[in-house]
Amino acid sequence: MTIIEVYFPGFPIICPACKSDRVVLFFDPRFIPREIPRWKDLIYEKKTVLENSWEKIKLENQWKKDVKVSGKPNWICKECYDGGIVLEKLSEDVKNC
Ligand SMILES: [Zn+2]
Repeated sequence: MTIIEVYFPGFPIICPACKSDRVVLFFDPRFIPREIPRWKDLIYEKKTVLENSWEKIKLENQWKKDVKVSGKPNWICKECYDGGIVLEKLSEDVKNC
């Protein structure tokens, strides 16, 4: 049995592909449960971006080798069925590490 935890932050999240707000965020069953509150805070504080480009997702994962793809929440748009992962929005100084 698979349980997928869906998260609604309480404000609309806009699909980057079709601009619909029918976007669902969810935590993959492989997602580490103790990481969920951290991501919920980031999402709630609007410190995240939705990413659907596989090239950018790959780049992100090389840059932070310790974080697996399952360490990030997923998203899917109910309007166009586009989807991807939620990335943390990073400031410039963090990128230089
Ligand atoms: Zn969409």
